Amino acid sequence: HANRTNGIDKNVWVEFTQLAAAYSKVNLGQGFPDFAPPKFVQEAFCHALNEGPMMHQYTRAFGHVPLVKSLAKFFSRVIGHEIDPLEDILVTVGAYQALFSAFQALINEGDEVIIVEPFFDCYQPMVKMAGGQPVYIPLRPKGDGSVLSSGDWVLSPEELASKFTPRTKALVINTPNNPLGKVYKTEELQMIADLCIKHDVLVISDEVYEWLTYDGAKHVKIASLPGMWERTITVGSGGKTFSATGWKVGWAISSEHIIKHMKTIHQNTVYHCATPAQEAVARGFEREYEVFGTPESYFQQLPAMLHHKKNKLASLLKSVGLKPIMPEGGYFMTADFSSIKVDYDDPSSKDEAKDFRFVKWLIKEKGLATIPVSAFYSPEHGKEFDKYIRFCFVKEEATLDAAAEILKKWS
Ligand code: PMP
Ligand code: GLN
Repeated sequence: HANRTNGIDKNVWVEFTQLAAAYSKVNLGQGFPDFAPPKFVQEAFCHALNEGPMMHQYTRAFGHVPLVKSLAKFFSRVIGHEIDPLEDILVTVGAYQALFSAFQALINEGDEVIIVEPFFDCYQPMVKMAGGQPVYIPLRPKGDGSVLSSGDWVLSPEELASKFTPRTKALVINTPNNPLGKVYKTEELQMIADLCIKHDVLVISDEVYEWLTYDGAKHVKIASLPGMWERTITVGSGGKTFSATGWKVGWAISSEHIIKHMKTIHQNTVYHCATPAQEAVARGFEREYEVFGTPESYFQQLPAMLHHKKNKLASLLKSVGLKPIMPEGGYFMTADFSSIKVDYDDPSSKDEAKDFRFVKWLIKEKGLATIPVSAFYSPEHGKEFDKYIRFCFVKEEATLDAAAEILKKWS
C-alpha cells in the first residue's frame, strides 16, 4: 500500500455507523435528518428524472450550468461580490470533495495548515494526504469551564498568532462548527482575517450549516470581509442545505485564480457529479432566491423547527445529569458526561479514550448511538476534551422521545 494511507485508516463514522447499525435502537450519532427533504426539492428531483434523456447523462464537468448559475445568483447577494458562475464555482460530490480538492490543489509537501479544534475530522487526513502538516489550535471554554453556550468557546488571538510560520499555507475554519455549534462573530472572523492577510495565508471556510443559527446568532461569511474574497474558499453542501444528505451535491466558491486549480484536481479524479441531483439543488436555490428572508423560506423554516428540537434535547440531557453546551448553530449538541456515575468499562475497549468507552457502552448496553467528541481533536489534544459526547438533533419528535425513554430509564 501507499505510505499516504498510513495512520489515517481509523475513521469515526465507519466505526460508529457500524456499531449503531448493529446495536442501537435510537440513533443520534451520524448527522443526517430522519425526516424528508422539503416537498419543493423532492418534486424538483422527480421533475428532473422525467425531463428527458439528457438529464440522465453527463453534464458540465465543473458543475451543471443551471446549478452554478443559481448558486452564483444566490451567493452574490449574500457575499456582496459578483460571483462568476463558470469561473468562481466548482460543484463537487458533497462538501467532502470540495474540501479534498481544495487541499489537493493548494497544499504542497511540507506546507502547514492551521486547523481550529474541535474540527470535522476529515480535515486532518485530507491535509496529510496532500503532504501537508496540520497545526492545531483549540477553542477553549472561557473562565472556570462551567460554560453553557458554544459562544463561550473562543480562540486566544495570541495563541493563534503564534501558530503562523513562514510555511503556513492555509487555515481551516468551520462556522457554524461541528460538533460544538459555535457561530463565529464578525470580530472573531476579523481577527482571523487580519492574521491571514498579514501572513498571506488562504482560508478554507466550511459553512455547510450556514442556515442553521439560533437565538439571534448570525452567520457571517469570512469571504465577505474586506480583502478576503481573493483568499477564501467557501465550502457548502446541498445535502445539509436541503436535508438531503444522500444526494451528495456540494460546492466550493472562490476567486477564479483558486478555483482553476481545484478544477484541475476535479477533472482528473471525479470529473462529473450526478446530473439530476444538481438540477434539483439548482431549482431549490431558485425557489429560495424568490422567497429569501420571508417565512416561506426553508432557510427560516428549518432553523425554526430545529430551535425547538435543540431546546427539547437540552432539557432532556439536563434532566438526566448531562451538561449540554447550547449550540448557537448547526444540528449537534455536545454534553459533558463527567458527572454520570455508571460503570461503562467494557474489557474490549479498555485502552480507548474515556468518551469512546462511554459511547460504546451507551450504544451496546442502552441502544442509544452518539459520537465521542475527542474524535474531533488531534491526538495531542483529545485527552483534554474526552468528557464530551455529541448528540444530533435533526430528528423526528418520535426519535427524540425514544432517546428520552432510554436516558430516563438509565438515570
Ligand atoms: N463539513 C462538515 C462540517 C460536515 O459536518 C459535513 C458532514 N455533512 C461535511 C463537511 C460533508 O458534507 P457532505 O455530506 O456534503 O459531503
Ligand atoms: N457530517 C456528518 C456528521 O458530522 C456526517 C459525517 C459522515 O458521515 N462522514 O455527523
